[in-house]
Amino acid sequence: MCVAVKADAYGHGAVPCAKAVLEAGAQYLAVATVDEGIELRENGIDAPVLLLSLCSMSEIASAVKYDITPLVFDRYYVEDFAREVKKSGRTDFAVHIAVDTGMGRIGVYPEEAGELALQIHKTGCLKVDGICTHFAVSDGASSEDDKYTKLQYERFMQAVDSVKQKGIDPGIRHCCASAACLTRKDMQLDMVRPGIIAYGYYADEIDRDYLCKAGTPLDLKEVMTLECEVSAVRKFKKGMSVGYGRTWTAPEDTEIAVLTIGYGDGLLRAYGKAGLTVAINGRPYPVRGRICMDQCMVELGNGSGVQRGDKAVIFGLKEDGALQNADDIARKAGTISYEVATCITKRVPRVFIS
Ligand SMILES: *Cc1c(COP(=O)(O)O)cnc(C)c1O
Repeated sequence: MCVAVKADAYGHGAVPCAKAVLEAGAQYLAVATVDEGIELRENGIDAPVLLLSLCSMSEIASAVKYDITPLVFDRYYVEDFAREVKKSGRTDFAVHIAVDTGMGRIGVYPEEAGELALQIHKTGCLKVDGICTHFAVSDGASSEDDKYTKLQYERFMQAVDSVKQKGIDPGIRHCCASAACLTRKDMQLDMVRPGIIAYGYYADEIDRDYLCKAGTPLDLKEVMTLECEVSAVRKFKKGMSVGYGRTWTAPEDTEIAVLTIGYGDGLLRAYGKAGLTVAINGRPYPVRGRICMDQCMVELGNGSGVQRGDKAVIFGLKEDGALQNADDIARKAGTISYEVATCITKRVPRVFIS
């Protein structure tokens, strides 16, 4: 099990999440940048760390120094790593071969995998420790998606074979991210790379309903609750407008709550346009006007009883008072839970409760 803790563990906080998943039994972690890997190392994490994206040339020395395992597929990138590893005096620096079986992002084409493995072997200092691919539509529910994933898997197996044919052990074979972890028991090979499901969200179309119908029900529970505070409750007269652009005007006398959250915290303006509601004391209140950088306003109507200091819950766990999760907001706003969670910015304090 290799859990993706890239992008600050999808906005949740990389170091505490990494420690939690390792304690729960994961053996590998995956990051997207060398700095993310260094953060783990500097916080005492010594599990193998996979670097899922290519790093820039200036970061290769650090990747080697901090023992971060790159995905490689390009011969120049392999040469650059080999040069740095030689300088360090190491002779067995682990790399994983990335195979592009149809994702169209990074990876060697399946028919070139054997040659690349040979090149890696010949450096004398790099070792093929694994081989992987990434699915483009494993989170889709259509039969075309299903066919494409099977095709990608077949190509991946061809790549694995071509490495073996060169007399090289391909090491750990892995291809399943969250969606395929849930639906492709037959493709899990030696390791899986879940990300989003570790944070409690389904992977796009592979949702609760889909899994129920497929006879493999799974009850995921979101990890994060995003909350802020009511910083003021104000009386608005009919005709008064709220915020920049004056996009909303009170159609009658009402109360407006000012909240301590804005797009500078990751509450994107697009959510306002999509009709975001916020839970206060167990009831939903609509955001009115444009979401500002540091604040936003919600309409309370009259007699809500909401007071300054009350907790306003944007999304998260029901027991924390939420009426929706990040996935619900994402669907309304035309995006995915990954983006909603990852966009929560650094200035929002993460509080960890075990
Ligand atoms: C991000 C990522 C994952 C995890 O994806 P989820 O959909 O969050 O499970 C796995 N593999 C690679 C290559 C990735 O980039």
